[in-house]
Amino acid sequence: MGVTHPERVAEIDLEALRHNVRHLRRVAHPARVMAVVKADAHGHGAVPVARAALEAGAAWLGVAHIAEGVALRRAGIEAPVLAWLHTPASDFTAGVEHGLDLGISDWELEHVVAAARELERPAIVHLKIDTGLGRNGCPPEQWQALLDRAVAHQEEGLIRVVGVFSHLAAADEPSRPETDLQIRAFRDAVAAAENAGIDVEVRHLANTPATFSRPDCHFDLVRVGLGLYGLSPFSDQDSADLGLRPVMTFSTVVSNCKEVPAGQGVSYGHAYRTQQPTTLGLIPVGYGDGVPRIATGAPVLVGGRTYPVVGRIAMDQFVVDFGATGLVGTPRSPLGARAVLFGGADAPAVEDWAAAAQTINYEVITRIGDRVERVHLNVDPENDDLA
Ligand SMILES: *Cc1c(COP(=O)(O)O)cnc(C)c1O
Repeated sequence: MGVTHPERVAEIDLEALRHNVRHLRRVAHPARVMAVVKADAHGHGAVPVARAALEAGAAWLGVAHIAEGVALRRAGIEAPVLAWLHTPASDFTAGVEHGLDLGISDWELEHVVAAARELERPAIVHLKIDTGLGRNGCPPEQWQALLDRAVAHQEEGLIRVVGVFSHLAAADEPSRPETDLQIRAFRDAVAAAENAGIDVEVRHLANTPATFSRPDCHFDLVRVGLGLYGLSPFSDQDSADLGLRPVMTFSTVVSNCKEVPAGQGVSYGHAYRTQQPTTLGLIPVGYGDGVPRIATGAPVLVGGRTYPVVGRIAMDQFVVDFGATGLVGTPRSPLGARAVLFGGADAPAVEDWAAAAQTINYEVITRIGDRVERVHLNVDPENDDLA
C-alpha cells in the first residue's frame, strides 16, 4: 500500500551543482569562484552545498551573516569564508575567532578591531565600496577616510586587508549603462586602496549575471549564487543556454483525487469554479512550505503531463485540475502519484513558478520551507558521513 516517495522533498543534485561550479570556473577563468551559500544556500542546504562547491574547485565561500559563516566552520569547513552583512548586534568576536573574512563598509571596522584586540588575533577584512547600488558599501566621498583608518589598524597589527569589493545593481540587464559606471568607480576605489599602501589580494565585483555577461568585471574573484544552483539570471536565456544544470527538484505526492460536477467551487473564496465535470487532484504543499500563494496557474507534473494550479493556494495545500478527460477513467489513480512542481526532466522549470508568482527564480528556490525534506543526491563518498 505504502508510497516510498518522500511526502514533501527538495532533491538537491550535488553532481549538477559540481558541474555548475566547474562550468563557472571555466567562464570566470583566470578569476576564481566564490560560492555564495547564504540563506541556507538559497534553500539547498548550506553545508552539503559548500562541501560540493569546494570539491568542484570553488576557492571561497560567501555568506551574508557572520552566524552563517560560523555554522560552516562548526561543520568543519576550513576554506576562506566571507561574511558581509552586519549589524551592531552581530557577533564580531565569533567572526574573528572562527577566522571568517569580514566585509567592512564603515562602522563595522571599529567593532572588528575591538574583537581582534580582545582575541589578540588580526581580523581579515575586505573593504566594500558603494559603486552605485546604494545599499551598504562605503560612499566614494568617505572611501579615503575609511582607507586611512584601515591602514592605521593594519599597522597596529589588528587587521589584515586582503580584499576590495562592491556589488552590481543591474548586471542582469547587460545593456544598462550603470554597470560601466560601477566598473569605473570600482577601479578608482582599488587604485586609491593601492595608493594608500594596501596590498589588495582579491578584487571582486561580479555576481552571477556579470560572470556571464561582463568578463571585464571578473577581476580576481567572482561571487556566484544563482549560477551554482543552475539557474539563469537573464530573462532571455535559460539554464541550458548558459550551460547550467538546475540543482533542485521539488516534489510531493498527490494526496486526494476526486471526480466533481460542473460548477464545483475550488478552495478558499471559490476563485475557481469547474466549467464541466472533471477530476481534481489535491497537492499537499502550500505557502507554509514556501509555495507562493499568488502562483495560481503554475504547472505541476503528474504522470507525465502538466496540469495547472486552480483556485487559491492555501497554507498546506492546493488543487490541480486534471481535466474532463485527463485522468478520468484511467485505470491508475493518481492518488499517491509523484507531483513535481519544478526541476528534473520534463518537469516545469523554477521560472514557470516565478512567472506565475510575479517574482524571480531566486525567490522561489530560497523560500522553500523547513517542512520540505532536503535530500542530497550524489554526495561525495568521502564526505558522506558528514552531509
Ligand atoms: C547574494 C550576493 C551575491 C550572489 O549574487 P547572484 O546574483 O546570486 O550570483 C554576490 N554578492 C553579494 C554581495 C551578494 O549579496
